[in-house]
Amino acid sequence: MKFRQTLPAVERAAHFAKQYLERLPERRVFPDAAALKGLAEFEEPLPESPTDPLNVIDMLHTYGSPATVATAGPRYFGFVTGGALPAALGANVLAAAWDQSAFSHTASPVAAKLEEIALGWLLELLHLPRGCAGAFVTGTTMAHVTALAAARSKVLADVGYDVDDRGLVGAPPITVVVGEEAHATLFKALAIIGLGRKQVISVPVDLQGRMRPVGFPTLDGPTIVCIQAGNVNSGAFDPAEEICEIAHDAGAWVHADGAFGLWALAAPGRRRLAAGYHKCDSWALDAHKWLNVPYDSGLALVRHVQALKNAMRIGAAYLLDSDQREPFHFTPESSRRARGVEIWAALKSLGRDGVADLVERCCEYAALFAGGLKDAGFEVLNDVVLNQVVVSFGSEEKTARVIRAIEEDGAFWAGGTNWQGRAALRISVSSWATERSDIKRSLEALARIAKAD
Ligand SMILES: *Cc1c(COP(=O)(O)O)cnc(C)c1O
Repeated sequence: MKFRQTLPAVERAAHFAKQYLERLPERRVFPDAAALKGLAEFEEPLPESPTDPLNVIDMLHTYGSPATVATAGPRYFGFVTGGALPAALGANVLAAAWDQSAFSHTASPVAAKLEEIALGWLLELLHLPRGCAGAFVTGTTMAHVTALAAARSKVLADVGYDVDDRGLVGAPPITVVVGEEAHATLFKALAIIGLGRKQVISVPVDLQGRMRPVGFPTLDGPTIVCIQAGNVNSGAFDPAEEICEIAHDAGAWVHADGAFGLWALAAPGRRRLAAGYHKCDSWALDAHKWLNVPYDSGLALVRHVQALKNAMRIGAAYLLDSDQREPFHFTPESSRRARGVEIWAALKSLGRDGVADLVERCCEYAALFAGGLKDAGFEVLNDVVLNQVVVSFGSEEKTARVIRAIEEDGAFWAGGTNWQGRAALRISVSSWATERSDIKRSLEALARIAKAD
């Protein structure tokens, strides 16, 4: 294969990408049965001989594009997905052509530089302490792993034990405190770093899913407390101010899961929800959620720079010391793509005001959605304080039928959940592409669906 074959392949891909994006706002949000059936075309034996790159791209577009979910479009309200901002998507495409490894300055000067700039901007935007360390990872799950590894290192170093060299076998025990509503990925991260899914003290929560500080255990010895900015269902925040005070009095490390909710710190109108979160020791969040950069893009921010470096330390003869911020000192991965490029592009294109507006607008539309649902006689189960709406359509069976019908209808998409024992539809407004008219259109579709039931 000759290098010049690259250009036509990129041109073809760009042409299809353009076509895909042009059709996105008006197409069905969840693919129809015919599109899903088309995926069978990919079921073929491993090719024995080469295929023309253009034909490879053609096949992807012909059978792949229709079987996507329109998460990048304006009426996808599932999970907390975000979209991809124009500048961030453009940066992603250009960075793909660069094919940089963001491992170090020598591997990619531009990747290392943009990470450093983006990190500084993010800390300022979120009102977090200047000088925190940052790891650009795949998502919040890995951000938990990264930050909790730093936490583990520090709370054990505080009692004279070097866990990074000696390991957990024979280490003093670590107490882990979580809320009853902690996100599933936190338990996965705890399992991965050897602290265990079930070896936790679970603090009771209130009706919105917030930890109740009165239910807090007495803390003693090496301790990590995990709190949450933005419950995946209700959008509620654990009370950071009170918990940080209790935890820090006992010398504990406070880790915040702020996958989407921490972005509230960037919007003056919502910042009060996240009061006290700047006092935490580490934060996990997703740029691919509310900053609307393409997947996969998470961030672990850590106040104690040396603790993170200790946890992520790597030594090899070819790793020369430098005075610059070397990305590999902070991440679990060595080779990885240059995620900082898209984050830089998103922040450069939106600016402080643009990020605030993105967050604020999504919250406003969530309130509009909730208002419309109530007017139609449906029961909204949460206090809509952020971008999340949890709604019931009556009985469990009826709610399940409505959720299925929404997917079949295709006008918009949101998924089912269970909120405090009740089946519900969970709506998350988190994309720059969503407009007021999209909420109206989705409410009309829902009225039509519920009426037909
Ligand atoms: C999405 C989410 C996660 C997991 O993030 P990934 O990027 O999927 O790993 C964790 N916590 C909360 C609150 C989330 O919303």
